Amino acid sequence: MLEQLTVAAALEKLANREISARELTEAVLTRIDDVDKSVRAYITVTGERALQAAEKIDEKRAKGENTGPLAGVPVALKDNICTGGVLTSCASKMLANFIPPYDATVALLLQEAGAILVGKTNLDEFAMGSSTESSAFFTSRNPWDLTRVPGGSSGGSAAAVAADETLFSLGTDTGGSIRQPAAFCGIVGLKPTYGRVSRFGVVALASSLDHVGPLTKDVRDCALIMNVIAGHDKNDSTSAELAAPDYTSFLGREIKGLRIGVPVEYFNADIEDGVKKAVRKAIDVFVSLGAEAEEISLPHTQYALPAFYILAAAEASSNLARYDGVQYGLHMAAANLDDFYKKNRSEGFGSEVKRRIIFGTYILSSGNYDHYYLKAMKVRTLVKEDFERAFAGYDLILTPAAPTTAFKAGSVEDRLQMYFNDSCTVAANLAGLPAISLPCGFADGLPVGLQLIGKPFAEGTVLQAAYAYEQNSGLPKSKPAVKEAGGALHE
Ligand code: GLN
Repeated sequence: MLEQLTVAAALEKLANREISARELTEAVLTRIDDVDKSVRAYITVTGERALQAAEKIDEKRAKGENTGPLAGVPVALKDNICTGGVLTSCASKMLANFIPPYDATVALLLQEAGAILVGKTNLDEFAMGSSTESSAFFTSRNPWDLTRVPGGSSGGSAAAVAADETLFSLGTDTGGSIRQPAAFCGIVGLKPTYGRVSRFGVVALASSLDHVGPLTKDVRDCALIMNVIAGHDKNDSTSAELAAPDYTSFLGREIKGLRIGVPVEYFNADIEDGVKKAVRKAIDVFVSLGAEAEEISLPHTQYALPAFYILAAAEASSNLARYDGVQYGLHMAAANLDDFYKKNRSEGFGSEVKRRIIFGTYILSSGNYDHYYLKAMKVRTLVKEDFERAFAGYDLILTPAAPTTAFKAGSVEDRLQMYFNDSCTVAANLAGLPAISLPCGFADGLPVGLQLIGKPFAEGTVLQAAYAYEQNSGLPKSKPAVKEAGGALHE
């Protein structure tokens, strides 16, 4: 049962020599063997490599050498985070053979801290989606109900944590891709402030909106991982030159007097009743702990989602221009250069990626640029100003993390309905603010996520409040049974 441990609990047992890194890694790999045929969280499992790394940690520890703050703790990385020598596919045919020659900064930091990479997790192709259904390889499943999706695009990373197939994982969040799957899978997911965690070596979707962050079993683990991955990186020009605090020092602090704004716009008719109910109950817990919760308005909220999809598609069309069949990945011969591009790009990319590239190119073409791109940028400023005004009077903003609970795989055919999954999360990306999703109960047996949004670089306050809630919510500490609900799962 070692795979069920939190990072904090595992570190304690490792430090006391109750368990070895090898035993812990083996437990996780066995769990992957047992359940991943049903959950399908992983694209690649790096078993051999993980065991070797674990043994090295054990040897170092036996010699009394310094092993690092996460020494021996298994981690899974979303498959758009470059790992030297290990396939990084972005769940795309385009990169199905791409083995990076270098590590992303976050991968390197984790490795230096002694974390053990056990594998790379599934995602929507190039992180475009909310369910992993646009992965070119397969759809991951929600451990709470295998007929449902784990959310997306970091669905594999969330499912792996929820099913105890790793102790923690990293994901990326451009419009909600850490927080929405965390909500669907009943775990904790943090999108840090823009610039707080390096994006170097993380495959770009929309560079001004992309963030990297942890998915964990609880809030303490989230703080522990932030302690390792947050900080300035000279390889990322958007990285903030600001020292990162010890995030665990915020845990356990009182939240008496903390002012929480609850925006009315996030409790409208589009949000499922079960979600609203669980979130409102959570507000009562914050109030019982001495926080002050008040209704507020963020008047431009409804424009955030359309603005996001315009900006994200525009940036993606430019970022994905590099996949031309020459420099990376798919490389099929053709009669002439035009045909070569056409062939490799049309076969390499799936339909959602093509749709966004075409849409983004249209938006950026002369004549449309002012009309769509510039207008969306103006909306982005308005959304940001909504938050600035709110944060003049409040420390945190509380909302649902997703409008619904996990939906059935294959049930959302309408693209716009799929895009609507991000309605609670995109605003924090447009404004670059830190935001966490944490479990706040269940609706019809499925996990519901609560979102706390903080001021820029106030991850500490976000974690402080999240931890206070987690410790006092009275929610049972349940785990998914990972049972196949009858019927064939494997496509
Ligand atoms: N679901 C959103 C999209 O499809 C956000 C994706 C993300 O955050 N990577 O674009």
